[in-house]
Amino acid sequence: MLADQAKPDTPRISRMRVQIAASTPSECLLWDMSLNTHGYGQIYYMGKVMKAHRVAYHMHYGHFPVHGACHTCDNRNCFNPHHLFDGDQRANMRDAAGKGRFLARAASSIDPAEVFKLTSTGMTAAAIARFMGISPSYVCLIQQGRRRNRVVVAA
Ligand SMILES: [Zn+2]
Repeated sequence: MLADQAKPDTPRISRMRVQIAASTPSECLLWDMSLNTHGYGQIYYMGKVMKAHRVAYHMHYGHFPVHGACHTCDNRNCFNPHHLFDGDQRANMRDAAGKGRFLARAASSIDPAEVFKLTSTGMTAAAIARFMGISPSYVCLIQQGRRRNRVVVAA
């Protein structure tokens, strides 16, 4: 059984590919299989267990996100590739800033520790963003920033 799962295209992966190929930006694709302890979908892919939305990103864009797949929607178990972006896409952030929804507060007034605290309670990036008056993209960037110990804010 384990040997079967190690093959690149299990029936679950095949089903996921079909779902992703048929996805449109208009609605969320909600994961109906196993979730990890943080509420993210997970699946065995390329030899290991990965977050479903990360796998979806890879299937759709042909590569893994450099910093992590972030959601633009409110569902952390959504794996619609149209609702995902790489956590450090500066262009994406500048685009959001241009539309005036990047920051409703000055960046200097945002404490990353507050974002981590809220994240640990299970709040989604979108919920934290509404609560703190900042964009989901910015919340996601801070969350991904844990890997770098330091948050780089795009000018
Ligand atoms: Zn979605």
